[in-house]
Amino acid sequence: DKYKSGLSKTRGSFSSKINNLVARYRQVDEDFFDDLEEILIQADVGVNTVMDLVDELKMEVKRQNIKDSSMLKDVISEKLVEIYAGDEETVKAELNLQPNDLSIFLFVGVNGVGKTTSIGKLAHQLSEQGKKVVLVAGDTFRAGAIEQLDVWGQRVGVEVIKHSEGSDPAAVIYDGIQAARSRNADVLLCDTAGRLQNKVNLMNELSKVKRVIEREVPSAPHEVLLVLDATTGQNALSQAKTFSEATNVTGIVLTKLDGTAKGGIVLAIRKELNIPVKYVGLGEKVTDLEVFDAQAFVYGLFA
Ligand code: GDP
Repeated sequence: DKYKSGLSKTRGSFSSKINNLVARYRQVDEDFFDDLEEILIQADVGVNTVMDLVDELKMEVKRQNIKDSSMLKDVISEKLVEIYAGDEETVKAELNLQPNDLSIFLFVGVNGVGKTTSIGKLAHQLSEQGKKVVLVAGDTFRAGAIEQLDVWGQRVGVEVIKHSEGSDPAAVIYDGIQAARSRNADVLLCDTAGRLQNKVNLMNELSKVKRVIEREVPSAPHEVLLVLDATTGQNALSQAKTFSEATNVTGIVLTKLDGTAKGGIVLAIRKELNIPVKYVGLGEKVTDLEVFDAQAFVYGLFA
């Protein structure tokens, strides 16, 4: 399936290292755990997450009196799912869609992470589900951003509301809301600027956009989706921290998982930021966006 092929790089490196480890150590001892830590850190799982995981594994080894390292593989995958899912029954995070009303989703993230592509892919998915989608080109700063969103709109057959380059992003978002209402749309997907050269400016701009949305629709935005590029590793984590200080991020779209051997970043994000990963990008095609499923993800790593 999609997860298996999209995660082939991470799986190739991760599961072969784990298999190697298990082959090298018959006994589960301190050295075994040191090497395991190293493998997990290299997969970008994140130092804190790795420490917690290894502590829990050690306890589990005692509890079940595990001696043979080959028996530990299943325990590792179970623990990874547990870490991801926490106490919750469900490991899949659904989008906060308003059943009988306009849903407004704001996309934020640094230039180049795959924001426009993810908006296009999600617009396609929602349209396929029979929803009427409108896009609004809120990145009025970067040259070409408006046109790029427009191309995606044409590709997936949804309308794009836009102003000219350099205009006020809050004004175009306002127009987007009016247009979505007058067309009886189900979902409005808002692109925003992603220049991080001037962080304070960008964060002010995002707050203003958010205020305009809230004034028009008090329950909105129904999602603030932060788009992160999995190939940037720990950088993605620091971007997530910056954006969640400025806006209330409700979910993450993690792109380009197909392009990295360090898919462990998914676990680091969940553990260190406590923001659910809602979607993952597994390629450049319009259909390469998957609802994130922790179980499928972890089993995909070991498959
Ligand atoms: P933006 O600046 O954040 O809007 O980024 P774009 O949407 O323009 O994407 C930047 C590049 O990343 C483009 O070449 C996309 O095709 C590529 N891209 C986006 N998502 C994915 C993904 O999930 N996998 C891969 N392999 N490439 C992606």
